Amino acid sequence: MKNGGRWHGRRSAVALAVALALAPACALAQATLDERILDVREQSRFVPDKALAQLQKLQPELVAASSYTRAEFLNQMSTVRMRLGQNDLAMEAADQVIAFGTSLRDNVIIAKGMLAKTYVLFAQAEVDAAHRMAFAAEKLALTTTDIPLQVQATITAGQSYAEQGNFPAALLKLQRAVDIARPPAGDAISLVAALNALTKLHTQMKGYENAAETLAELLTETEKLNSPGRMAMAKNTEYGLAIDSGQPKRALRVLQESLDLERKLGAERMVGITLVNLSDIQLKQQDYARAVQYAQEALQSSDKTRDKSTEATARLNLGQAYIGMGRLAEGKKQYELGLARYERENNKPDLQAALREYGEALERAGDLAGAVQAYHRERNISNELFERRRQQAMLELQEKYETEKKQRQIELLSRENQVKGTEIDNRRLQQRVWWLLALVLALTAAVVGLLYRKVRHTNAQLEVKNLELKAQSTLDPLTSLYNRRHFQDFMRGLTVQERADDVVGALFLLDVDHFKHINDTYGHAAGDAVLKMIAENLRIALRETDMIVRWGGEEFLAFLPAIPRQGVDEIARRILLGISSQSLKYQEHEISVNVSVGFSPYPLVPGGEPLAWERAVNLVDMALYLAKAHGRNRAYGVRGFDNFHLTSMEAIEQDLERAWRSGFVDLSVVLGGDPDQQPPPTEQTNVVSIKHAAGKH
Ligand code: GH3
Ligand code: MG
Ligand code: MG
Repeated sequence: MKNGGRWHGRRSAVALAVALALAPACALAQATLDERILDVREQSRFVPDKALAQLQKLQPELVAASSYTRAEFLNQMSTVRMRLGQNDLAMEAADQVIAFGTSLRDNVIIAKGMLAKTYVLFAQAEVDAAHRMAFAAEKLALTTTDIPLQVQATITAGQSYAEQGNFPAALLKLQRAVDIARPPAGDAISLVAALNALTKLHTQMKGYENAAETLAELLTETEKLNSPGRMAMAKNTEYGLAIDSGQPKRALRVLQESLDLERKLGAERMVGITLVNLSDIQLKQQDYARAVQYAQEALQSSDKTRDKSTEATARLNLGQAYIGMGRLAEGKKQYELGLARYERENNKPDLQAALREYGEALERAGDLAGAVQAYHRERNISNELFERRRQQAMLELQEKYETEKKQRQIELLSRENQVKGTEIDNRRLQQRVWWLLALVLALTAAVVGLLYRKVRHTNAQLEVKNLELKAQSTLDPLTSLYNRRHFQDFMRGLTVQERADDVVGALFLLDVDHFKHINDTYGHAAGDAVLKMIAENLRIALRETDMIVRWGGEEFLAFLPAIPRQGVDEIARRILLGISSQSLKYQEHEISVNVSVGFSPYPLVPGGEPLAWERAVNLVDMALYLAKAHGRNRAYGVRGFDNFHLTSMEAIEQDLERAWRSGFVDLSVVLGGDPDQQPPPTEQTNVVSIKHAAGKH
């Protein structure tokens, strides 16, 4: 795992020129105090312990200082404490700055305090609160004339968007930060900070050419600053670009250069991050001994600085290295410690990536049971992310519906008022003109009759809308397949019974192979088009009575209520070929995909007791995992069980592959292969039934 150093080194030093100009009674001695605080500000980024000592030395002079100087001092205190891992003290100081600014009604001071608070919140892993604070601080900062403050706040807002995965918004902000920071209005340090953040974002968005261009300017501007610390930061950014764009040699070289600079400076926090990244490079080159060494050094360093983020990533790397060396127990322990921090941060995308690496490492080391577990954890997170997006779409639909409903109610009400008005008129007429009464009543009756019909019509329309909404909530908006919830409702209502005849139900679970690659290469819209194509191919391959479900992002489930028991493998083969033989024309590209499939007849009846549908799906999911692990583009099916009295369902669920190898489970394997070289569909040559005798395989 690479350490992006997300919020490290993000603050830009803010010159005090504006604050000084605003403080009218500034004596000469006080100007030097401000200058010394300004010095501490840069120092704090690289050697916070020294900066703290400096600040404490300056404290006695504050008694005679202006409000601005005191605010700036507290602000620096907050940042230094945060960098030293003393988050409570840091938060206290940030709150003091905000309170101070509020009492002076000074937006510059308030915004600075809010930014300080943002960084502390993030250090405390309160990510959502940190983002909210960042956006509020930016809004306030932009109402001031303090250019360095504007740049710093705009950078922080941009990075917050990037952390939320909203890259277009992040890009706009960071480009704007660079624009504000350029001369003549901006200052050199602000410009370097903005260019640094922009280079990282381009790298993250895989815009390597843009990143290289921005990096070149960053290096030129940093050179002019003549600051080893800033140069080390720029080199770290260069490392990120080099490693992501596939230049490991360059990555290693710049990391070693920056490690030298950081050690000379005594910038321990940065040393920690660099060591983590060095261990990551060694992992990629499978030099596990070196990886362990760097990761351990990184741990020692993060222990000194109390930098929890670096510690977590160091542990992940240490875990991966141990697993690579076959030291599984130690490796798992380190991994879990590292993952715990990510879980606490609720940082889903990074957690998902870490679990994926974890699973792959265990799989390489031959611990398939452990790999399956990591895979399930990873999938749960993936499902959570998917579910969150689905709920968002539902909420939007609901809102639209509510607005329409309100509109109708308003119309009905205004008509009701019309009726009331008519009634009052009637009474007056009644008193005045007896003989007109009959006529008026008749007219009113006619109007009410008409209105009644209108109301009935509107109600009927509402009914239709209701039905539409219900239909939409059972269908997936992208593919128009059933959604997961509908399938769950359906299965709950289904009574499980084994049939005596040779007709069974069947479950098929599909996951697209290397789907990320499609998104990465052709874009998310192409990925969506591929998902639609797969849905279409499934509809063609299966019958109208079969239930096809969008199970997750790029996972599909099919439930076939009745097919001949002997035909289950053949259908798996039809699904594999139905999808791999079609390609999609997308812009000037021809995109084709394979899937991996897990399947089984339904119900499964181990030891005479039908398995609940959830457990059947779970088993099929494990078969799918085997299909993935054994090369993808193939289907693994659970046919049945043998010698069930010698094992248990729990043991089988624990490790399907082992149960198969021990002969407790009968699996069939259907290979996808190149569609052009497939034998004609009547032959079953590529359907292999493998029944393992114990100890064989
Ligand atoms: P594997 O062969 O191991 O399955 O590799 P993979 O790349 O398919 O890996 P994984 O299953 O983890 O990847 C799922 C990806 O699918 C991640 C996610 O960004 C993408 N995805 C999920 N839902 C959607 C969607 O609705 N549209 C698009 N375009 N992509 C989606
Ligand atoms: Mg998947
Ligand atoms: Mg996939």
